[in-house]
Amino acid sequence: MGKIELDWANLGFAYRDTACHAEYVFRDGKWDEGKLVESPYIPVHIAATGLHYGQECFEGIKAFRRKDGRCSIFRVWENAKRMAATAERLCIAPVPEETFVEACKRVVAANADYIPPYGTGGSLYIRPLLIGTGAQIGVAPAKEYTFIVLVTPVGAYYKGGLQPVKAIVLDDYDRAAPLGTGHIKCGGNYGGSLYAHEMAKRMGYPVELYLDAKTHTFIDEFATSNFLAITKDGKYVTPDSTTVLPSVTNMTLMQLAKDFGMTVERRPIDFEKEIDDFAEVAACGTAVVVTPVNSITRAGKERVTGPATGCGPVLEKLFHAVQAIQYGEAEDVHGWNEFVDC
Ligand SMILES: *Cc1c(COP(=O)(O)O)cnc(C)c1O
Repeated sequence: MGKIELDWANLGFAYRDTACHAEYVFRDGKWDEGKLVESPYIPVHIAATGLHYGQECFEGIKAFRRKDGRCSIFRVWENAKRMAATAERLCIAPVPEETFVEACKRVVAANADYIPPYGTGGSLYIRPLLIGTGAQIGVAPAKEYTFIVLVTPVGAYYKGGLQPVKAIVLDDYDRAAPLGTGHIKCGGNYGGSLYAHEMAKRMGYPVELYLDAKTHTFIDEFATSNFLAITKDGKYVTPDSTTVLPSVTNMTLMQLAKDFGMTVERRPIDFEKEIDDFAEVAACGTAVVVTPVNSITRAGKERVTGPATGCGPVLEKLFHAVQAIQYGEAEDVHGWNEFVDC
């Protein structure tokens, strides 16, 4: 394989074909050994349950070229666990956690040339995908599943510092029903939220915040990322809700905040009662780590939730602490990095 020349500094977050992806098939009650496939297309049966009945789920992870030249994947075991939990809720045959991690490492190693070099701020985004591929027309779980791991190089999201965005609460839409699927990472949650997302974008808000569907009182999360706030008295607060996705980034930030000696509270957050107590607010997730949110608008009323420009000091510190561990610039005391030989 020849060295790949990409404009590493300007990759953005767009899909690019790479050398190959991995495919594992579950058939006759067991997973096969998997294989690497060059073509970015898969032949799918027209009656596959993944196409008709939403038997589909995914994950998002990142691999990094480190300061010491090695490569590591960040907290991949957490994603393995989460996909297994998601699969169970969708009656999909779960991928054993060891197989999941092995598949990620295998695809990253086979695409080593696509890992953005250290210093460019980029990473190799890993997208595991698990779909029902067995043909079925009656509504029931499929007997056959395909597990795919694809990768694509992505650039630094922020150039020249973290930039804040404005958020909106659209009270006419909900993301997740109280006893529904908000806590799992299934494609259906995304399909159901695109309409409100496009509407928010047209109104000039890059992100939309959801309140709990039952009472519209408590904060749940943004459409594709968790909500966290730094209160004016310096606490890290994030919602305790059964309808938000357990974000690995949020878990990471909570741990680092504790390591810094901050008080971390996971509890119900009443939007109207607490919105004016926040010094900094962010949306967090694997793709960008943190997106500072400096105002939230609800029912035509805009509330200030952070500095007008740039990023607040606590979020800034947390963001750099995460990146330093990911790029091997700081000690990984919690053992979050999984090394790949490549
Ligand atoms: C993926 C996702 C997140 C972020 O999770 P990370 O593990 O931090 O990437 C948050 N909320 C929703 C709804 C998601 O789908």
